[in-house]
Amino acid sequence: MTSPWIEPANSATALLLLGRGSDPASERGVDCPGDLPAASDPGLVARATAAKAALGDRVFVLGHHYQRDEVIQFADVTGDSFKLAREAAARPSAEFIVFCGVHFMAESADILTDSSQKVILPDLAAGCSMADMAVLGQVQTAWEHFEDLDITEPPRGGKPQKTNLANDIIPVTYMNSSADIKGFVGRNKGVVCTSSNAKRALTWAYEQGSKVFFLPDQHLGRNTAVLEMGFDLDDCVLYDPHKPQGGLTGEQLRTARMILWRGHCSVHGRFTLDSVREVRDRVPGVNVLVHPECRHEVVRAADQVGSTEYIIRALDAAPAGSAWAVGTELNLVRRLALAHPDKQITFLDRTVCYCSTMNRIDLPHLVWALEELVAGRVPNQITVDEDTAHHARVALDQMLALP
Ligand code: SF4
Repeated sequence: MTSPWIEPANSATALLLLGRGSDPASERGVDCPGDLPAASDPGLVARATAAKAALGDRVFVLGHHYQRDEVIQFADVTGDSFKLAREAAARPSAEFIVFCGVHFMAESADILTDSSQKVILPDLAAGCSMADMAVLGQVQTAWEHFEDLDITEPPRGGKPQKTNLANDIIPVTYMNSSADIKGFVGRNKGVVCTSSNAKRALTWAYEQGSKVFFLPDQHLGRNTAVLEMGFDLDDCVLYDPHKPQGGLTGEQLRTARMILWRGHCSVHGRFTLDSVREVRDRVPGVNVLVHPECRHEVVRAADQVGSTEYIIRALDAAPAGSAWAVGTELNLVRRLALAHPDKQITFLDRTVCYCSTMNRIDLPHLVWALEELVAGRVPNQITVDEDTAHHARVALDQMLALP
């Protein structure tokens, strides 16, 4: 006998108010041209169903795991960001890809799909605070600083040679980054990674150079380096783009093995060591299962850590009657709890922790986007310029070629 799902309390703290192009003063995001249906419209489900049916195979709707149930019900496929981009690429007959996720995901879908396909984000304010923490100009400034720093290469059968630090660094970016950053990484012989293959990507990178510049999620970089590859915490330094020279001395950069960008996910960053202690006191025998975007001390205190797909598989495979506290986005945790009534699945934090930019995509925006397509207009198309897309594809292809 297990306890039913308990809804976390509302948090007084507003989360992720900013989306790409949003208005921080009003927190309203960007306007939709045309008429956005009212959220109270009782006909929304019927309207979405009718619009999707009218478009038939011309439209393919992708739903990220963190999306609301009201949106997920219309997804042709659900998954994490990389799975969804590949699903879109595998449907060249679909003229329109409606991406129910956030901006960087729609960019990745545009990069990987045929040029004739149009990728649509139902609300342009659906950004990602983590991706927005690494802006191309800041990253280029950091890279130029690395180029200005000399290192002495260890002798390889000859005299030690002076070279610049950047020559020794392989950039690695998490999938959760803008197309600009993926393009930068592709131009500089690096690789993209996901939370599932970060260890493989880092292993490959350390075969190419002796240091990694990891963007934009410090936690995924640190957790993978320390917990999966045996690095010391001291091998990692944190580059803060808001401080001169990243707040690091030349010596710190020369001796570091991992240079972490100061970025994080505002959702997963909410879980604390106290959340873990509190749930262990509250739920006897609980297994704590968290995403690697969580802080290092939280991941260390957890029983299991893994990507969104890993979390789904772990709960599918868990024995009936087992108890779990899950540290990831709330829409997904609630959906998993309701899908597994024979297991006790609880949210790791006591308060609500949605990704509010993901939540910008609601049923009214989806209805609006689908009905615009039916009317022959293409709303909110996401396009990546060809040069950036080319280099981003290089970094993505390198990921696909990882051993
Ligand atoms: S959950 Fe975090 S990483 Fe994912 S879209 Fe939201 S802010 Fe970005």
